[in-house]
Amino acid sequence: MKRDSKQYAVDRKGMEMEKGRIGEGVKNLSPIHRFSDSPFRFVILSLVVFLFASSTYAAKTSYAKTPPKNALVKVTNIRYWSNPNYTRVVIDVSREAIFTHRLLKEDPAIKKPRRLYIDIGKANLSPSLKQPIPINDGLLRMARAGQYDKNTVRVVLDIESIEDYKVFPLSEPFRIVVDVMGKGKVRSLPPQALSGGQEPSDSGGRSQPTPDKPTLAQQLGLKIKRIVIDAGHGGKDSGAVGKKGLKEKDVVLKIAKGLKETLSKETGAEIFMTRDADTFIPLEERTAIANTKEADLFLSIHANASLNRRASGVETYYLDLTNDEVAIRLAARENAVSSKKMSDLQYILNDLIKTSKTNESSRLAEVVQESLVSNLKVKYSDIRGNGVKGAPFYVLVGTHMPSILVEVSFISNSKEEDRLSDDGYIREIIAGISSGVKEYVKMMEVALE
Ligand SMILES: [Zn+2]
Repeated sequence: MKRDSKQYAVDRKGMEMEKGRIGEGVKNLSPIHRFSDSPFRFVILSLVVFLFASSTYAAKTSYAKTPPKNALVKVTNIRYWSNPNYTRVVIDVSREAIFTHRLLKEDPAIKKPRRLYIDIGKANLSPSLKQPIPINDGLLRMARAGQYDKNTVRVVLDIESIEDYKVFPLSEPFRIVVDVMGKGKVRSLPPQALSGGQEPSDSGGRSQPTPDKPTLAQQLGLKIKRIVIDAGHGGKDSGAVGKKGLKEKDVVLKIAKGLKETLSKETGAEIFMTRDADTFIPLEERTAIANTKEADLFLSIHANASLNRRASGVETYYLDLTNDEVAIRLAARENAVSSKKMSDLQYILNDLIKTSKTNESSRLAEVVQESLVSNLKVKYSDIRGNGVKGAPFYVLVGTHMPSILVEVSFISNSKEEDRLSDDGYIREIIAGISSGVKEYVKMMEVALE
C-alpha cells in the first residue's frame, strides 16, 4: 500500500522533474562540452586527458567519447507488438543498465490496476516518452514511463489481465524485453481494439492481430495452421558476406520466398514472412511476429560463415545452452554481440530455455537437417551434414512454438558461395527444407490423432 502511494506520488514528481529537462542537463556535464568554447582551455584539457590516458588502463579508449562512469543512461524508446493473448514490450536504453522488476497488486484506493513495473537504475527519461502509450489489447492497458527519482526511470505496464510474464535483457544495443501472456485462448475483441488504432506512431511499435476468418488449414482441421519464415538480417545488416561479394541477407531472402511459395502450396498452412524485402528488422521483433501470428512453427534461415575458409556444410539449430565454442561464436555473430556477452546471455537465458519447446524444436531440427542434407546430396558432391545443435540465438528466445535456425551452407567457403549464387542450388535447398517441414507436419498429424 505504502509503496503504491509512494509510486504514485513520485510518478507525478517525475513528470514535474521532466519539465526541468534533466536529460539535457546531464548531457552537458561532459567536460569537453563545457570547455570547448575556449581554445586555451581545450589545450589544457587535452593535456589533462593525455596524462590521464597514459596513467590509467580505463583511458585506453578516447576519454572525450567515453561517457563518464557516473553518467546516466537514457531510456530512449518503448516499442510493443501484441495480440489478445501475447504482448512483447521492448524498452530501449542507451547503454547497459541495471534494472529490477516487480508485479504490484490492484490498488482500488488510488484507482490503480494490477501493474508490472521495471526500474532502470542510473537512468533518465527521454522527453519523447513523457506521454503514456496506450496498448489496450486485453492484456495491457498502457505503458507509461516516469523519472521515479533523480537516478531511476520507472516503466509501468498497467495490466488488464495476464497469466504470466517474463523480463529479460538483450545486449548491443542494450534493451529490456517484457513478454506478457494471457490465458491461452484468443478472446474476441471489438475491431477497433484489434486494428491497432491506438498504437504509438513514432515508437516503431505495432499491432499484429491474428485474423478471425477461418483459413484453409483451419477448415481442414490441420494441427500446423501457420508457419512463420524468417529471412535473417536485411537492410543495413548484410549478415555474412562471401569473398566474391555474395550477401547472406540476399541469399536467405530468396530461400525464404521460395519456402513460402512451396509450403503454402504443399501444406495448406498459412505462411507469413518476417520480411519480404531488403529491410532491417531487430531480432526481438522477428520473435514477436512469430508469437503475435500464433505460428505453429518458426523457421529462421541463415548462411554460415567461418574464419576457416575450408569450413563447409549444413547445420540446424534449436534454442539451448551450449559449451561448444564454435556454436557460441556463431550465435554471437548471428546475435550481433561479442563472444564475451554470450556467457552473460547463457546465464540470463537459463530460465527461458527451460520453458521453451526444446524437445519439439530439436525434433523439427533433426527432420529438416536430415531432409536438407540428403536432398542436396542427390545432385551435389561434397555436401557435409554437420548435424543438429543447440545454441542461444536471440531470435529463438521466447518463441511459443517449435523453432529452428537453419544454416544452409557456408557463404565464407568459396565453393559454397558459388553454389549459393546458383538458382539450381537454392531450389534444392528450398525443396530439402520444405520436405523436412512437411514430414514434421505429418508426424504431428499422426501423433495428435
Ligand atoms: Zn545469419
